[in-house]
Amino acid sequence: MLRKPVFAANWKMNHGPTDAKAFLRTFLVHYARRTDRSVVFFPPALTMHAVTEALRDRPDIIVGVQNIHWEAKGAFTGELSASIARDAGARMVLVGHSERRHIFGETDEQTGLKCAAVVTAGLTPMLCVGEKLEQRERGEAESVVERQLRAGFAGVQPAQIANALVAYEPVWAIGTGRTALPKDASAMHATVRRVLKELAGDRGAQVPVLYGGSVSRGNVAELVATPGVDGVLVGGASLEADGWATIVRA
Ligand code: PEP
Repeated sequence: MLRKPVFAANWKMNHGPTDAKAFLRTFLVHYARRTDRSVVFFPPALTMHAVTEALRDRPDIIVGVQNIHWEAKGAFTGELSASIARDAGARMVLVGHSERRHIFGETDEQTGLKCAAVVTAGLTPMLCVGEKLEQRERGEAESVVERQLRAGFAGVQPAQIANALVAYEPVWAIGTGRTALPKDASAMHATVRRVLKELAGDRGAQVPVLYGGSVSRGNVAELVATPGVDGVLVGGASLEADGWATIVRA
C-alpha cells in the first residue's frame, strides 16, 4: 500500500496565538493544498484555537496536541484529556515525545495509557520512540525502540494500531543539529516496521513511520527519500513560516 509522506511540525513551547496567526498567514500563501502529502501542526494547547480558526478553509491540514493525560476527566490540575483536545479541534496527539520522557519523566507504561486514551477518544496517536546516545553506543538502539513500541501500543487493538503513526526520533538528534545517517535511519525504520507487523499483522504496513531529529531544509529531501522513511517530525525548523513551507514542499 502507498503511504503518503507526512510532514509534521512540533512547535513545542513556541508560538502563542498572535504569532501563530501571523505564521499561518505566510505559510498558507506558500503552501497550496496537495493530495500527495499530509501536513500536521502540533501547536501549544492554548494556541490550538487560533490555529484551527486560521485553517478553517484548509481541512487538508491536520492539527493536534503535544500531550494529553490518560484519564478521561477529573481532578488533574493543569492537564488535558483526549476528549477535551478533540472538542477543541485536535485530530492527532503526540505521545511519548522525547522531551516528555526525558524532561518530565514519562514512562513507557504511561505512553501506553495515553495511546489507549487517544484511540478511545477517536483521535490518532503519533507515538514517538527513540534511543539515547549511550543506549546506541551500548548497541541497545533496537531493543529500546522495540520496548517503547510494544509498551506504547500495549492497550491498542491491532486494527487501531493500523491507524496510528510512529515517529522514530533518536534522542541525540533532537535539537542538536546532528541527524541520523540515512543507513542508520533506514535500519531503525526497518526495526519499527518489523515490530508493527508483529503487533498489527499485515495492517502494520499502513502505519507511516516518520523520522525526527534536526530535520532542516538542507537535509529533508535526502531523509524523505531514505528507504522506510514516510515523512518527518520537525521541531526547530518548523518555527519559521517560509522555512517550514520549503520543507513541506520537499
Ligand atoms: C522534535 O521536536 O520532535 C524534533 C525532532 O526537534 P528538532 O527538529 O528541533 O530536532
